[in-house]
Amino acid sequence: MIPGSFAYHRPKSLTEAVALLADLGEEARPRAGGHSLIPMMKLLFAAPEHLVDLGGLSDLKGIRVDGSEVVIGAMATQHELISSDLLAEKIPLIRETSLQIADPQVRYLGTLGGNVANGDPGNDMPAVMMCLGAAYEVAGKTGQRRIAAREFYRGAYVTALAPGEVLTAIRIPIPPAGHGSAYEKLKRKIGDYATAAAAVVLTLTGGRVATCSIGLTNLADTPLWAEQAAKIVIGTSLDPGTVRQAAAAAEAITSPASDNHGPASYRTKMAGVMLSRALARAKARAA
Ligand SMILES: Cc1cc2nc3c(=O)[nH]c(=O)nc-3n(C[C@H](O)[C@H](O)[C@H](O)COP(=O)(O)OP(=O)(O)OC[C@H]3O[C@@H](n4cnc5c(N)ncnc54)[C@H](O)[C@@H]3O)c2cc1C
Repeated sequence: MIPGSFAYHRPKSLTEAVALLADLGEEARPRAGGHSLIPMMKLLFAAPEHLVDLGGLSDLKGIRVDGSEVVIGAMATQHELISSDLLAEKIPLIRETSLQIADPQVRYLGTLGGNVANGDPGNDMPAVMMCLGAAYEVAGKTGQRRIAAREFYRGAYVTALAPGEVLTAIRIPIPPAGHGSAYEKLKRKIGDYATAAAAVVLTLTGGRVATCSIGLTNLADTPLWAEQAAKIVIGTSLDPGTVRQAAAAAEAITSPASDNHGPASYRTKMAGVMLSRALARAKARAA
């Protein structure tokens, strides 16, 4: 389908972008890689009157270490996440997840900022960012603020971003050396959104889980942080009984829709299966 007509703006600085969005009001939308927004416009699910292209803002690029955190510019593409030696060394979960998003063509343009700001429960990065305890830096006309990923998602396509705010960077605490992580995603075919997916980051001490965090993708209106399931595995050696309990706790917080990925009951069951696999893989990778 052909999207409705819109005005196109290409600011040269973040200040200009924020001012434009504030002036244009709720009918304006930031455009990053365009690989969620443009399909939505073609399907007539979104009809912004103004697109504010963030592609010219070099401040929103780059991947760097800042103390105990990695800071990723919102306009870093998924391809850049995959190519980053820094991320491969410090937070390999991000590379592993990026490789499971869509296909290379989408990943060359799709950005981390767009993926987490979009609010689509099918996006893979939000649950991973909740699992990692990330925070989002945003800028608006009244200044800057930081929002925890775990508090950002309010409903399908509803986030804590106020109209006119731009997500500028994602701050991720660097997990301890020797941690293990995994992202397990069930999809119908290569490049598809998740039927169910689970992210795990854990550390081991003496063969027992010392810390654990779990995120779940596309299993409710928002990404999920499975706090209770993580608590169940802490202090254990991840014996089969404990893994079954954790999987049941994760399944209990899901509320997926029945859709073309399968019936809700199947998707819930797959949440437990993905979590069990992710726990096993993260444990095998932990030093
Ligand atoms: C065929 C196909 C398959 C896909 N498969 C997957 C998949 O398996 N998993 C997955 O996670 N994604 C998938 N995607 C989506 C893809 O990852 C998108 O690139 C991503 O969701 C959005 O990033 P973007 O940079 O393209 O953002 P855009 O499409 O430009 O924007 C998305 C939304 O976020 C807002 N936004 C963007 N950047 C900012 C910002 N900095 N500040 C404030 N608001 C902002 C926009 O206004 C818009 O509402 C797929 C896309 C396609 C076309």
